Amino acid sequence: MSEEIILPAMCACNDCLSLKPFSLERHQGIEQCACGGDFCGCSACVLPAVEHWLQLETAKSKGFN
Ligand SMILES: [Zn+2]
Ligand SMILES: [Zn+2]
Repeated sequence: MSEEIILPAMCACNDCLSLKPFSLERHQGIEQCACGGDFCGCSACVLPAVEHWLQLETAKSKGFN
């Protein structure tokens, strides 16, 4: 039984974890992040970045900064 995770089409920066809409230029490393890092659009890179930002949001909503 295989379980597929459907991702929104995004690219994540491997350095600062910033998320951008998916584009081939980003996915192929032609367009780099403002921090100089490389984007990747695969789930192994995007999922941890999404979780990172979700945790930040959760922390803020609970009053932690
Ligand atoms: Zn970056
Ligand atoms: Zn990747």
